[in-house]
Amino acid sequence: MVFKDTHYHIEDIHLFRDVDHANVLSGREIIKDCPVVKATKGQVVLDANSSGSRLFIVLRGTLGITKLNDDNNHIENAITQYLPGECVGEISVLDEEIHSATICALSDSELLVIEAEIMWRLIDELNGVARNLLQLLSFRIRAANAQIRSRQKVGEFYRQLSMVDGLTGLHNRAWLNAQLPGLVENAHATGNPLSIIMVDLDHFKRFNDEFGHLLGDDALQTSAKVLNAGLRPTDFAARYGGEEMMVILPGTTLKAALGVAQRLCSKLAKTRVFADNQRPMPHITGSFGVASLAIGQDSAQLINSADIALYKAKNAGRNQVAS
Ligand code: GH3
Ligand code: MG
Ligand code: MG
Repeated sequence: MVFKDTHYHIEDIHLFRDVDHANVLSGREIIKDCPVVKATKGQVVLDANSSGSRLFIVLRGTLGITKLNDDNNHIENAITQYLPGECVGEISVLDEEIHSATICALSDSELLVIEAEIMWRLIDELNGVARNLLQLLSFRIRAANAQIRSRQKVGEFYRQLSMVDGLTGLHNRAWLNAQLPGLVENAHATGNPLSIIMVDLDHFKRFNDEFGHLLGDDALQTSAKVLNAGLRPTDFAARYGGEEMMVILPGTTLKAALGVAQRLCSKLAKTRVFADNQRPMPHITGSFGVASLAIGQDSAQLINSADIALYKAKNAGRNQVAS
C-alpha cells in the first residue's frame, strides 16, 4: 500500500541531519516522488539473500533484524532495531550485493522507499548526505567488529572449556594432544630437558566393584587434586583417560622427575578418600612411570617410554615409581 500524502519532515531523517539549508531544499526536491509504504507488524521488509535496489527510511514504527526459528517463522532479535529516522538496506544499494540479514517490521510501520538511482543522486549532489552516509557506514563497521570480537571471546571460552576434563578439572586428552607435541618440539629446540609421569590408579576396578562407580569418581577426583596440588606453575596435569593421568614437567631432568613422582606417590597413598565427605574409605594408591625426552624422540615415543616404566611399577607390586 502506498501513501503518497504521508507527511514527514526531511530534517527528521538521519541522512539529512545537519545538512545546510540549500541541501535540504535540493534533497526535498529529489525525494519528493519517493513513495511511502506501510509494513504491518511481522512483515518482512528486506529478505536476506535477496538483492537490494532500494533503501527504506523508517518514518513511523520500528524495524528489527530477525532470524528464523525452527518452525521457519521469523522471530525478532531485540538487539538490533531501527527507529524513526534511521535507514536500512543502504549497504546493498551501495555494493549491489544481496542483503546480509532479514529485516522485518517489529510494529506497524511506515517507510519511505528510496530507489538506488535516487540514492546515488543524493550522494552525487548533496555532500551533507554523503558525509552522513559515511558516518553511518563507519558506525555499522564498528558495530560489526564489536560483534566479531565478542563472538571470538565466546569461542575462546568454549575452546578452553573443551580442553578441561569435566570430572577431575585437569586438562583433558584433547588438550594433551594439542600441547605435548609443542612442548616436545620446544625442548628439542632449546636443549632443555622435558619429563613426564604416567600415573595409573591401582586396583581401581576392585575399588569400583566394592564401593560403586560414584565413590570411584570421588576417589578419582581426590587423586587428581593430589597430583595437581603438588606441581609448580610451569607443570601440567592431564587426565589421559579412565583412571590414568599424566604429569608434564618442562625443564625437568629424569632425576628430578623421579623425585617429584616419589613425592606424589607417597602423598597419594597417605590421602584419605571420604565417601559423602564423611565416611573414610581405604587408601587409594597409584603406580608411576617416569620418562624423559631422549634425543630424536617425538611425543608418542615419549608417552610410550612412560607407559613401559608404568608397567614396570605395576609388575614390581604397585604403589611405587619406576623409570
Ligand atoms: P591396575 O592396578 O592393574 O591398574 O588395576 P585396575 O583395576 O586399576 O585396572 P583396570 O584397567 O583393569 O581398571 C581400570 C578401572 O578404572 C576400570 C574402570 O571402571 C575404572 N574407571 C575408569 N574411568 C573411571 C571413571 O571415570 N570413574 C570411575 N568410577 N571408574 C573409572
Ligand atoms: Mg588403567
Ligand atoms: Mg589402574
